[in-house]
Amino acid sequence: MDKKVVLAIDLGTTGNRVIAFSKQGEIVARSYYEFHQYFPRPGWVEHSPREILDTTIKALKDVLRIVGTENVVSIGITNQRETTILWDRETGEPVYNAIVWQDKRSEPICEELREYKEVIRFKTGLFLDPYFSASKIKWLLENVQGLKNKVDQGKIIFGTPEVWILWNLTGGKVFATEPSNASRTLLFNIKELKFDPQLLKIFEIPEGILPEVRDSDSLFGYIDKRIAGREIPICGILGDQQASLFAHCGWEEGVVKNTYGTGLFIMTNTQGNIINSDKLLTTVAWKFKNKINYALEGSIFMGGAVIQWLRDNLKILKSAADSEKMAEGIKDNEGVYFIPALQGFGAPYWFPKARGAILGLTRKSSRETIVRAALESLAYQTRDVIEEMRKELRTDFKVLRVDGGACLNNFLMQFQADILEMKIERPRIIDTTALGAAGISGITSGFWSIEEFEEVRRIDKEFRPILERNEADFFYTKWKKIVKKIIELAEEI
Ligand code: ADP
Repeated sequence: MDKKVVLAIDLGTTGNRVIAFSKQGEIVARSYYEFHQYFPRPGWVEHSPREILDTTIKALKDVLRIVGTENVVSIGITNQRETTILWDRETGEPVYNAIVWQDKRSEPICEELREYKEVIRFKTGLFLDPYFSASKIKWLLENVQGLKNKVDQGKIIFGTPEVWILWNLTGGKVFATEPSNASRTLLFNIKELKFDPQLLKIFEIPEGILPEVRDSDSLFGYIDKRIAGREIPICGILGDQQASLFAHCGWEEGVVKNTYGTGLFIMTNTQGNIINSDKLLTTVAWKFKNKINYALEGSIFMGGAVIQWLRDNLKILKSAADSEKMAEGIKDNEGVYFIPALQGFGAPYWFPKARGAILGLTRKSSRETIVRAALESLAYQTRDVIEEMRKELRTDFKVLRVDGGACLNNFLMQFQADILEMKIERPRIIDTTALGAAGISGITSGFWSIEEFEEVRRIDKEFRPILERNEADFFYTKWKKIVKKIIELAEEI
């Protein structure tokens, strides 16, 4: 049997995982380590760059032990995006913890720079928001003692997690990234495909700290012999949502994917076109085979996290998986709607002041009613974004390709198909970020042809709409009306 594999290093928000894929797309080996989440103040979220590195190396060594180093053809990396790390290029010491994408501490910086909102939007395709890296870098430069001096001396470099890991795995030799990640810094001009001097000036960030931007399918470098026992090529890097799109073969036109994790991340490839939407983000999908592809992205903050909240805060669920049976235990939503704006609304409303609500309760309402309404809210939010995409692109998507923990919920997937009036395809491998990273690396190293990789994406289950169209539209219209009212009420709560 052919023992050759491609590895994916998947740098997540809660932990790091390494997975080995065979040519048939089977998972041959995997290892995963969580790392600590640090919450030093409300709204602050940090990781230790050392822990990110140590858990990655541990997982990598576990997998190499199982598959045999000699059998690894190449490695791909995918990562949590936007999370900001600065370190000393001579000693390799991080100057501070990693500031995580969820961290809101740089909100005042964004507020101060409000007058540049439009130019930032125009050049980056993103909103001026603490979610992205630029204001986090600025916060570090202003708040870490003695840092500015070291920056002036050229000693400090910046990267999101893939840059930090690439630099460390190559023994400090390679300091680079690629456009799917660079386009999330809020410093990258997505038309010119380079860091933008005007944006650097606005955020007062010196160009010298930034990594080189190579194509997503470059040969970035080789893993240091001291780590892997042999030099192994790293020849593909993508941000997590872009990697998931890649795994869904999202280079084809009309493909739209949704990742049902903590949040919901809906993305579609717009080929070479930059779409200016005021409700959705425009971002780089990848630069692959010399071609740049853009994507439209709808980021929704509360997806599976709603289910977590019912489990951990309301304690009306034992496990997330139980939500499926509970929701199926009742005939319909009994007129109850769950508004999941527990962290405000992200796409397409972008209304941070909104708050959560449960409406329509009666004496008949039960735990099941609330659980069902919560699951349904994921489907409604998804339709909100897809309607926006339909409008912007003037296309009618035929299929939604799904992944992420909550896509295992059959009730949710059926209801999603009903509400969208679209077919849903759930793949056999739901570790799609890892599969995408392995994919781009494997195609680059010749392990797979594009056609062979397309074969790897096998469907586990399809869901087709069964609800009458006017019934689905009735539920959705009601949802829209309630959301509108909640937004109007936000100022008063
Ligand atoms: P992340 O990568 O964001 O940590 P995952 O893809 O691992 O997320 O998915 C975990 C999320 O999915 C959790 O928020 C959890 O509540 C939710 N979840 C997991 N399984 C189910 C299920 N069967 N039904 C509904 N939600 C689920």
